[in-house]
Order: sequence, then C-alpha cells, then structure tokens
Amino acid sequence: MAVFHGNRAWVYPLKVKGRFSGWHRWSSLALLLFLLVVPWLRWDGKPVFLLEITTRTFFLLGSIFTATDGILILLTLLSAAFMLFFFTSLFGRLWCGYFCPQSVFMLNLAFPVEEWIEGERGQRMRRNQGPWVWDKIWRKGLKWSIYAVLGLIISMSFMGFFVNAHDVWTFNLGTTGFFFLGLFSALWFLDMAWYREQTCNYICPYARFQGALTDDESLVIAYETVRGEPRGKAAKERGGCIDCKRCVAVCPQGIDIRDGYQLECIACGLCIDACTDVMERLGHPTLVKYTTIAADEGRVVHWIRPRTIAYSTLLTLLVGGFTYVFSHHAAIEVLVDRVPGMLFIEDQDGFVRNMYMVKVLDRTAAAGEHDYDVTVDGLPEGSQVLATKISVNSTEQVSVPLIVRVPRAVADETIKVRVTVHGPHIDVGQDTTFKGPGVEIEHHEEHEAPRHEAAEHGDDKPVENRTAPAIPAVAPTEHEGEQ
Ligand code: SF4
Ligand code: SF4
Repeated sequence: MAVFHGNRAWVYPLKVKGRFSGWHRWSSLALLLFLLVVPWLRWDGKPVFLLEITTRTFFLLGSIFTATDGILILLTLLSAAFMLFFFTSLFGRLWCGYFCPQSVFMLNLAFPVEEWIEGERGQRMRRNQGPWVWDKIWRKGLKWSIYAVLGLIISMSFMGFFVNAHDVWTFNLGTTGFFFLGLFSALWFLDMAWYREQTCNYICPYARFQGALTDDESLVIAYETVRGEPRGKAAKERGGCIDCKRCVAVCPQGIDIRDGYQLECIACGLCIDACTDVMERLGHPTLVKYTTIAADEGRVVHWIRPRTIAYSTLLTLLVGGFTYVFSHHAAIEVLVDRVPGMLFIEDQDGFVRNMYMVKVLDRTAAAGEHDYDVTVDGLPEGSQVLATKISVNSTEQVSVPLIVRVPRAVADETIKVRVTVHGPHIDVGQDTTFKGPGVEIEHHEEHEAPRHEAAEHGDDKPVENRTAPAIPAVAPTEHEGEQ
C-alpha cells in the first residue's frame, strides 16, 4: 500500500479498455461540461447557479436568495448530505469512482497526459528510476506545464460558481480573488503532479466515514475468492486466477483487490475491466465484480432495509421542506418596523402621526432599478400616507421612512393596519398597528396636559407624546379608509 512520505510506492496505472473505463470517459465529459458551461448559463439575466461570496447572494434557477434565507441554505446542505448517505448505503463509493472531480480528473486528464508524454507504464517506471537526463527533464517539464494549465482552467471553472464567470475568465478579480485562484490552481497542480491517490487515502474524509454508512448489503468491488484461489499459473489444482496482476497494474489507487475490501478502493471498476479482458480469453467470467458481501456469502440482499428507509425518509422530508420553502419564497422581502422611541406625534394641523421604517429587499432576477408603491389599508377616512414610492436595485435592500397621519378625531388607541409593498410582479404585505391617543380621550382630555405613553416593545421607560407642526415637506397622499 502506498504510504504518505519517504518510501511512497509510486503508482503507475496501466491503461485499460472496457465497459467501466468507457463510463469514466462519459462521466468526465459530463463533469467538464458542467463546470465549464453552467457558470455561463443565464435565467432572466441572472446566473442559473451562482453562490456569490462577495454579496452573500445565491442565484438558483431565476430565484435569488440572500443571507436572510438561512433556512433554504441549511435545507440544501442537509438534503445534499442525506442524498450522499442514501446513495452510499445502496451503492457504496460510486460517487468516488464516477463523479468526484478528484478521481474523474485524475483518471481522464492527469493519467492520459502523463501517458501521452512519458509513454506507457513500463517506460514511465524505467524513466523515473533513471537519472535526470535531458529526455526526462523536458518530458517532466512539459507534463507539469500542462498540469499547471489544467489546474488553472479547473480552478477558474470552479470559481465561476462563486464569482461572476465573466470576471473570472477576464481576470477581473481583486486581490482576494487572485489569491484564491492561485491557491486552488496550486492545489490542483500538486494533486495531479504529486498527491494523486494520497488525496483520497489521507486527505478526503469521505473514505473514513463511509464505513459508518455502508453495511454487508452495500455495493462494493470484490474478488471472487472461492473461484479464484488458489491463484497461480500452474496447471494443476489451481483456481481461476492466473495471477497475471493486471487488476493490480490498472488500479489508480495501487491496491490489490484480491486482498479483500479496502478503504483505499474508490470503486472505479477498472480492475473489473482488466480481469474481464483476461478471463474472456480463457473462456471464463471475470473474477472481480460489483457485488455485496451478503451476496458473496450466499445471503439475500435487501435493498429496502432500516438504514435505507431511515435515510430515504429523512431525505424526502428535507426535499419536501426545501420545495415548500422554495415555492413560497417571495421575490421581494418586506419588513415594517415602527421608528423606535415614540408611539405617536400630534401635529398642529389636527392630525396624529405615526412613523415607520419600511425595508424592501429586492430578489427579482431582472437587473436594474425597480419601483415599488406602498399602500396602507385599514386607516380611517381622511388619513394620509406619506412617502409611498421606493426604488430598489435588484438584490439590494433599501430602508425608507413611512409616515401615516390620521385625523385626531378618529385616532383610536390602536388601529390595525396592513402595509403593502406593490412590486412590478408581486405584492407583499405586513400587518402592523397605528397608535393614537384614543377617540374618547380627545373629548375629555382636550384641556389636559399631554399624556405620557409607554414605549413599545416592552420598554418600561415612558416616552413623551409630542406635538409638532404639520408636515408640509412631503406632499401628502390621500388614502381612502377601508374599515
Ligand atoms: S481496486 Fe479496482 S475498483 Fe478499487 S480503486 Fe483499484 S481499480 Fe478501482
Ligand atoms: S486480473 Fe484476474 S486473473 Fe489476473 S490477477 Fe487479477 S484477478 Fe487474477
């Protein structure tokens, strides 16, 4: 087994052709297309998928989520985690073998480039053990240069999911952006040039905790010991394995699957292709195959079992929760708060004034500035609503003061009202209250000193009710009472 340092046994994977290596080419192509194309796709002028770090904004299929949408981000992450748990409990490490960028790029980019420049397995072994002559220097130099370019391209594709793709590919990045691009490119270069299988064996945590996710009925790659042993080339009393070691030579992880199931195995299936090729020439089926430990021991394999039921139930609940929240996710978010420190002000022109702050967060996908109207329903007749227009840029949040004036004669202590923000395509409302001195109070207190009102929101400190001149600065918008 390969070790991390010092006496590391360098792995020289042998090229193999077969059903599973063909599947690898398709999964590699799909992953490359996904990485290179998806960051450029647009939906109503916005990215189809972009988790923009700088603005803490998440664009998904025309919807925009901000830092206030923590529940959706949490549900997304939990759904992804349980999808992986469920998938692993059924199919073992198929993710590692066919979809993980590390193994996909290693098998279909790094190794083919190496073979193209340095030759087939035997040539590579001899050259590596030989001195640093010119032939070795230029081949290594060319290979590492290509790895550096590939590392840069992969990193730029990857960053396109977190920073605007156009900015990434035109290098319109700030210092932080260049730092991360350099860091990711360097890591990919080191991964392809040096770490390789050790990334899976020592750095990736998935191999470690998969033991807790799988059981005897999960899919693994296994060698058929009963049919294969005793191995050897001798004609007499030998099993099916001719000990050709092709399954070992093709393994990108450098392990011998005949030693039994090992954590280093990424379930890529290349040893199956190798053994299938050897065994077919001898007229026998492959000795290495996708199977389960239970099936190997002659037991019935249950796809539906407590573990898979638990994972699938939780996954269904999480996806259902995500779908519900996503479908009820408003394109604009509105928050109406009373201005702290006062309940109401009596204006000298016979009106009672309440002041609010209206926050509007615009999540609509269309770029540019959008105009919103604000109305207040539930006010008595003759009331006035001031500052009823709000302009907000897409993905921005704007706070504007909202002033509501109710004639003193009908300014009850509490009037239930609803503030509604009307957008280009959607209206969002919030219930609140208008506070006044009270209708009866007006008659028997008209000669008394101004009252004191307790502050709202549980603040025990009394706040003086003030009188103020009328508000000429903003032209009042007449609002017809609806109650
Ligand atoms: S043992 Fe077979 S399936 Fe496992 S990593 Fe090696 S080649 Fe791939
Ligand atoms: S490829 Fe098949 S026959 Fe050859 S060593 Fe591996 S298991 Fe044995």
